[in-house]
Amino acid sequence: MTTESFATGLRCIECRANYPLAYRLECEKCRGLLELTYDLEALGRRGPEVFRGAGLWRYAPVLPIARPEHRVTLGEGQTPLLECPRLATVLGVKRLLVKFDGTNPTGTVKDRSSATAVAAALQFGYRVTSVVSSGNAGSSIAAYSARAGLRSLIFVYEQASAPKMLHMAATASDLVIYKGVYDDLIGHWDRLVEEKAFFDCGASRNAFKQEGKKTLAYEIWEQTDFRPPDVVVAPVAVGETFIATVRSFRELTQLGWIDKAPLMVAAQATRANAIARAFRDGTPLRPLKIGYTVAEGLAAGNPGKKGEWTLRLLREGGGLAGDAEDEEILGAQKALARTEGIWAGPTGVATLAVLGRLLATKQVDPAQTICVIVSETGLKTEGEVPTRQGTAFDYESLRDLVLSRLAPNSNAPHLLSSPPRGEGG
Ligand SMILES: [Zn+2]
Repeated sequence: MTTESFATGLRCIECRANYPLAYRLECEKCRGLLELTYDLEALGRRGPEVFRGAGLWRYAPVLPIARPEHRVTLGEGQTPLLECPRLATVLGVKRLLVKFDGTNPTGTVKDRSSATAVAAALQFGYRVTSVVSSGNAGSSIAAYSARAGLRSLIFVYEQASAPKMLHMAATASDLVIYKGVYDDLIGHWDRLVEEKAFFDCGASRNAFKQEGKKTLAYEIWEQTDFRPPDVVVAPVAVGETFIATVRSFRELTQLGWIDKAPLMVAAQATRANAIARAFRDGTPLRPLKIGYTVAEGLAAGNPGKKGEWTLRLLREGGGLAGDAEDEEILGAQKALARTEGIWAGPTGVATLAVLGRLLATKQVDPAQTICVIVSETGLKTEGEVPTRQGTAFDYESLRDLVLSRLAPNSNAPHLLSSPPRGEGG
């Protein structure tokens, strides 16, 4: 059962010039970024039943890959949208949903864009893919390229975590560790894209790659019985996930399949907060010299044209932007794990930390339904292993340990102290 694509072409987001559906990274006339266009009238006549099958390619009608044989998959998408009542209580909000994208095949939301990027590479006859990465994008693009039988050239930042390095080394055709400033590397790499040395699997310009992330919002829409949340908090490095999510909700509004798009919140790390800062100050986007942040995937000091697009969507759409310090991000990581059992990496929980801040400053109404996108698994995180406390060597000592831990006045946190869940599960 295959579904056709309703993609019609590319359009410049600046001067609105239209182009046919071909591999093109920017507008010929003004160098503006391009976005994909669809025959929404034809799609609207078909109704939401047009989406069939499972996983990311269920949404093939709103993706730009025409032929089913190009639609590479590792089983991405269809990630859980989890009700989080305990964490909602901690945060003081009425209803909190976590869209957990750490369950994707390589543990990140990037699998959605890797699927459409590598599919587009096949569609346009490329044999080599490449990306510059802090870790997640590298292993994701490498895995999808391997799956499609393409060669991958992965450039990685030397501070990537050991689990991410291992994953990239295992899946990439070539892995190059770059010692230098991340933003400088991207500049050099962009020149190789111009020379058509490989297919651009970076986040800065490729509209075909970005499009895969639209499926995140289409899933949220279906998982909420077509009544999306009031607020969606999305992570922002250069803005790919944010822009794709805004585009999806815009399409759904134009199709008449939702009444109103959610309020969008852009979440950044304070140590890489160029977009949140410009939004707050009402100034144009200015690149920042940045150092290390635990939210490795958000470490973009110069978000470029895509950052400007993100800022424009925030301003036009009445959205919000915020940032959180590394300590707050690590606190959010622990809180999510302890209250709901969701183990996500720092890049993934920056959204939650930013929500905490926006609630504290009363910029977000706690009476609304809030959905937080948590974009990566915690299983690739590197960190200090906590020291193990308590020893037991025989039945008596084990029994003493257990009873002392379970005693009502014990300070040690344990399962029996948690209140029962309110909704029968
Ligand atoms: Zn243009």
